[in-house]
Amino acid sequence: GAVPSSKRTQDRSNEDLAYDDAAAAGFESGFSNTPDTDPDLPGNRVWGAGILARAQESELGNDLIRDHTLETAEQVEAAVDTALTASTAWSQLSGAERAKVMDRVGVKLANHRADLLEVMASECGKTIDQGDPEVSEAIDFAHYYGKLARELDEVQGAEYQPSKLIVVTPPWNFPVAIPTGGVLSALASGSSVIIKPAKQAARSGSVMVQAVWEALDEAGISRDVLQLVQLSERELGTQLVSHPAVDRLILTGGYETAELFRSFRKDLPLLAETSGKNAIIVTESADLDLAAKDVAYSAFAHAGQKCSAASLVILVGEVATSRRFRNQLVDAVGSMQVGYPWEPATQMGPIIGPAEGKLKRGLTQLNDGERWIFEPQQLDESGKLWSPGVRVGVRPGSEYHLTEYFGPILGVMTADTLEEAVEYVNATDYGLTSGLHSLEVEELEYWLEHVEAGNLYINRGITGAIVERQAFGGWKKSAVGATTKAGGPNYLVGLGEWRDVPLEG
Ligand code: GLU
Repeated sequence: GAVPSSKRTQDRSNEDLAYDDAAAAGFESGFSNTPDTDPDLPGNRVWGAGILARAQESELGNDLIRDHTLETAEQVEAAVDTALTASTAWSQLSGAERAKVMDRVGVKLANHRADLLEVMASECGKTIDQGDPEVSEAIDFAHYYGKLARELDEVQGAEYQPSKLIVVTPPWNFPVAIPTGGVLSALASGSSVIIKPAKQAARSGSVMVQAVWEALDEAGISRDVLQLVQLSERELGTQLVSHPAVDRLILTGGYETAELFRSFRKDLPLLAETSGKNAIIVTESADLDLAAKDVAYSAFAHAGQKCSAASLVILVGEVATSRRFRNQLVDAVGSMQVGYPWEPATQMGPIIGPAEGKLKRGLTQLNDGERWIFEPQQLDESGKLWSPGVRVGVRPGSEYHLTEYFGPILGVMTADTLEEAVEYVNATDYGLTSGLHSLEVEELEYWLEHVEAGNLYINRGITGAIVERQAFGGWKKSAVGATTKAGGPNYLVGLGEWRDVPLEG
C-alpha cells in the first residue's frame, strides 16, 4: 500500500504537467470537454450510434463483478482489513498529492467515456443525451474534489484528519456520476473506500472503478485503497454496513434504505441523500413555453428516475386555464419517443426497477378528482417500457401529492396564489429539488424565502445539478445525516475531522 518516494518525485515531472493541463482544460462545470486523450482505446473510435449498437449485447463489467463478489463473512472482513491497511500511506500524502491523482482519474474517465456510455445504456437504459453529461459530471467530480483536497492543505492552525474507511453505496439511477462522486470525495479526503454499487448498476460502477484503478496504478498508489465489492448474501451487506471500522457511509437511495442502515448500527455516521417529491411552480408572469419544456424534461428524462425529477407541476392562477401552457406541455409529452437506448429515435428509456408496488399504482391508479391527460401505457412484454403519464386534478393531501413514485409520471395541481402553491410544495415530507418559473422579482423573493428544499432552480429545469456551481443535497426526509452537499465546497471537510495544531511564530 505504500507510495514509493521515487514515484512521488516522478509525479512532478513534465508528464504530470501534461495531465494537469488536460485536467484544467476539461474542468468546465458539468459540460467537461476533456478530450478523449487516447485515440487508440477501442471505445474512442466509435461514437453515438456505434456505442448504442454495442450496448444491446454489451458484456462490459461482467468479469469485474465475477471477480469481486464476496461470498463469506471472512471475505468481507478481509476487504475491510485491506482497505484499512492501505489507508495509512494514502492518508499521509498531502491534499495536493491526492489532487494530482484525482486529475489523473478525470483523464481516465474521459478516456473511458465510450465504455461508460455503452455500459450505462446496456444496464440502466441511459440514452446518450443522459449518459454523456453524466460522464462529464463524473469527470468534474474528479477535478473538483482534487481542488478541495488542495484546499485542505492550506488551512492554518488546524490539521485535517481523514476517515480511515468510508463505505459508498450508490444507487442505480446515476450509475456512473453518483458512485464516482462518493468514491472520489472519500479518496480525495484521504480515506480508503469500499464501494458496493447497486445490483442493477453493478457493471457501470465496476467499469468506473476500473478507470480509477488505472489512474491509481499510474500514480504508483496501491489499488487497495479502493475496494470494489458485490455481496452474494444480504447478511454480508448488513455486516459491511454495521462494521465498527466504517468511519462514514455515503448513501444515495430511498429514505427507507437510510432508515434500514441506521437500524443496523445506531451510531453509523451516515451521509445520505434520499428521496424527493419535487415540484415546479409556474406563475402567470412566467415564460410559459420555456416552463412547459422544462417541466416535461424534468419529469420524463431518464423516465423520471432521478431523485431530482419533477413529480408535480403547480399552476398558479390563470396558468391553470392557459391554452398556451397546456398545448406546449401536451406537444412535448405527446411527441416523446419511448424505447431502448439502442433504438436511435429513443428520447425516454425504460424503467429499470420493476414497475411494481407504489410505482405500479402511480402508473395505473387515479385518486379522487384526478384524470389522465396522458394515461401511461405499458409498451412491451418486459414491463419496462411505459409511455409517460400526466394526471391533472391532483388534490392537496392526496396520495399522489405526497408520495414519491420514481418513474415517468407527472401530476398537475392548481393554486390560486403563489403562497398557496408554496404551501403545497412544503406539505410533503421531502425537500430535495424545487423549481419556479416566474419573471417577477417579488415572486422569486417570496419563493426563495419560503420554499423548503435543498436545491432551488429558477427558470430552468430542476434536474442536472452542476458540480461546483450547484452543490446538491436535500432537506427534511431528502437527507439523513448529511449536512454538506455533494459537489459543494464543504463536502470533503464533512468526511473527516479537524485537529487543532498550534500556529507557529
Ligand atoms: N444530481 C442529480 C441531478 O441533479 C440527481 C441525483 C439523484 O437522482 O440522486 O439531477
